[in-house]
Amino acid sequence: MQEDTKMIDDLIRLDSGHSPEKVLKDIAYALGQSAIVAITDRTGKIVYVNKLFTKIAQYSMDELVGADHRIINSGYHPPSFFKDMWRTIGRGGKWRGEVCNKAKDGTYYWVDTTIVPFLNEKGRPYQYISIRYDITASKESERMIRDLAYNDQLTKLPNRTSFRKVLHEEIAQAEKKGAKLAFVYLNIDRLRYVNDSLGHEAGDYILSVVSKRLKRVLSEKHVIGRLSGDEFGIILKGIRKAEDAERLTQEIQQFLKEPIAVMGQSQTLSLSCGIALYPEHAKKPSELTMKAEKALSVAKEHGGGGYEVYQHGTASKTLERILMENELRKSVHLGEFHLDYQPKMNFKTGKLAGVEALVRWNHPDLGRIPPDKFIPVAEETKLIAPLGEWVLREACTQARKWQDSGYGPFRVAVNMSAIQLEEPTILDTIKNILDETGVTTDLIEIELTESAFADREGMQEKICEIRALGIMVSIDDFGTGYSTFSYIKELQADTVKIDMSFVRDIHLNEDSRAIVKAIVMLADTVGLNVIAEGVEYEEQVEILKELGCREGQGYYYSKPMSSNDFEKFMGK
Ligand code: C2E
Ligand code: CA
Ligand code: CA
Repeated sequence: MQEDTKMIDDLIRLDSGHSPEKVLKDIAYALGQSAIVAITDRTGKIVYVNKLFTKIAQYSMDELVGADHRIINSGYHPPSFFKDMWRTIGRGGKWRGEVCNKAKDGTYYWVDTTIVPFLNEKGRPYQYISIRYDITASKESERMIRDLAYNDQLTKLPNRTSFRKVLHEEIAQAEKKGAKLAFVYLNIDRLRYVNDSLGHEAGDYILSVVSKRLKRVLSEKHVIGRLSGDEFGIILKGIRKAEDAERLTQEIQQFLKEPIAVMGQSQTLSLSCGIALYPEHAKKPSELTMKAEKALSVAKEHGGGGYEVYQHGTASKTLERILMENELRKSVHLGEFHLDYQPKMNFKTGKLAGVEALVRWNHPDLGRIPPDKFIPVAEETKLIAPLGEWVLREACTQARKWQDSGYGPFRVAVNMSAIQLEEPTILDTIKNILDETGVTTDLIEIELTESAFADREGMQEKICEIRALGIMVSIDDFGTGYSTFSYIKELQADTVKIDMSFVRDIHLNEDSRAIVKAIVMLADTVGLNVIAEGVEYEEQVEILKELGCREGQGYYYSKPMSSNDFEKFMGK
């Protein structure tokens, strides 16, 4: 930049016919076609502003010229921010930063600002030119993304990520003070039943009522967070003994029993709670969470509506769970699995953009078991490794077949769980399968949820290596805010799949629309593809298109189907 300054200085000197000021203004005019430009004198008094400046600041030229920049100071930055700036430019250096300013009507705007001093013969600045670009929109989406990353949108409570952070901090505090804490893991009994019978809106309403009641019944010093769909976490502070936590838990349960009117029906809620104590049961946040969760599963087994305090050796497996584990173990070898395929479509052309392979388990006695049920068990038991390997091999074989029969080309996406990615041999497994099946790598895509991108050891490198093979990587269920959401810029991925929870009510809910808009915008700026999942209605397609989203997947186009049916679908 020093060089740039020198260049402009030379320019001024070369141009003998005009005053330096005139030349400067000409340059400013040229710049001003796209930038917000101002020239100030040595003392910071404004001597020139261009039209864009008056437009964004909403002051007239007359109001601005002669004033100093305090007129647009928003008070957002601390005084040291501008002191630093003045120190830099006062010494003749260039300064660049993102500044929040205030317009005449009191609204704020953000500008990417560069200030270049012009130096006299003695090397001292005699005036400054500032060049600004409006970045309000991207700042706004950044803020929204950050909010998304740390707050649950429905209840406005801290989400799992930020709750975990707070738990860390609280434990550190308690350790310092030698204080005790209780972690209460709370689950709304039978919320799924409400969702299924009255719809998701009713379920959402109940969740917001529960969060309000929790806030009301607990004094502010305690911390409440929403951990997942129907689960909340509470950190109880100022606890002396287990009985204190039990008493508060009973109060919560009692208060939440008050009936709620949902769609003209009176619903009575019951809650199950699991309690674990710091430091008695665990000293580490993750362990404390796990123990409270274990206690919760015991409370659940007892039929719900009650609470349990963690006890050593608590059996956490339900009978259903044990059965499933055993069956899963057998089935991995018995070929009871198959893949269904769901198309991904380009909104504009209406053409096939790719396809997602989804695993299905058809048990001879138990019937169809949904992946949402058995994948978590497979992950916990590590059976996901052989199962996932089978899925990838099957999908690659199928992709090769389609390639050979002249379908496409289109990409076949395979879901991979974070646990699978943690396997030390995963890369070799992938390479072997690619070799064996002979499929072209750019026809394969891997879908990973956000948790796989979390800064667990070596994950980023592995994802990098997968991409280096020519395989595309997408971030599944994006926006559910469980992990590295705000670091989207740094993620090793090609595509984000906007979670269906934002798509489901996009035609009804402005928040969802704003969130999707922010995701699309941010993805565009960092060069990621975007696809929306769970598209069911034409209305949703129209809105998504308007928001700049180009691809979608969902029942609107087709449910997942067998490979044969998918061929018919393509033949249409
Ligand atoms: P996912 O990856 O988010 O997959 C999309 C799920 O949404 C599928 O459920 C699909 O049937 C469903 N879906 C698609 N379009 C719509 C729609 O318009 N509306 C609604 N309400 N739902 C829609 P599915 O097949 O039950 O799979 C559930 C989850 O199981 C998947 O979620 C994925 O996380 C996991 N999964 C499935 N197959 C595999 C696999 O091979 N490996 C691993 N690790 N996980 C898998
Ligand atoms: Ca997926
Ligand atoms: Ca998904």
